[in-house]
Amino acid sequence: MHAIRVAAVVDVTEAEGPGARFAVWVQGCAIRCPGCCNPHMFDPAAGTPVEPGELLARLDRVRDQVEGVTLLGGEPFEQAVALAPFARGARERGLSVLAFTGHLIEELRAGNPPGAPELLAQLDLLVDGPYRADLPETRRRWAGSSNQRFHFLTERHSPGVETVRAGGPDRVVELRFGPDGTVRRSGWPED
Ligand code: SF4
Repeated sequence: MHAIRVAAVVDVTEAEGPGARFAVWVQGCAIRCPGCCNPHMFDPAAGTPVEPGELLARLDRVRDQVEGVTLLGGEPFEQAVALAPFARGARERGLSVLAFTGHLIEELRAGNPPGAPELLAQLDLLVDGPYRADLPETRRRWAGSSNQRFHFLTERHSPGVETVRAGGPDRVVELRFGPDGTVRRSGWPED
């Protein structure tokens, strides 16, 4: 089984999709959108290789605290072959799976990158399209720019869940302070 090249994992976050989620930032992205907020995740040789089963074991420790998994990065579909078994395992555990990609869904359905249709088949929600710094998103949660599209691939999440409403939940930014003094920001701007 292929290992997943991982840049970061947050066990429980409310900043990366509907509800509380287990978020996996993968390492490596060849798309390289100008203005990307995660350029340190471009290099496919960096990060840490993690077996899908190992990641599922980590997910199991917080299974009762999350309603889904979010895959982002980096470019998840550059690791579609390795991520598909992890995504399948998450769904077998009753969790929803959301992925952010800089590719378009039409490319993914056509098999580009390799293994993309198999990963796509495990998703409930896909946010697609490259980040466009000239088109900042102001109305929808989780998307970075207004060209990006939400594809509801199953009935697990309802269209409109991404829309910020008056009096409702707004866009969320989370800050995590590490024991070594590092600060990790997630939620916005994002993939
Ligand atoms: S925004 Fe996403 S697709 Fe674009 S360069 Fe950054 S990680 Fe890659």
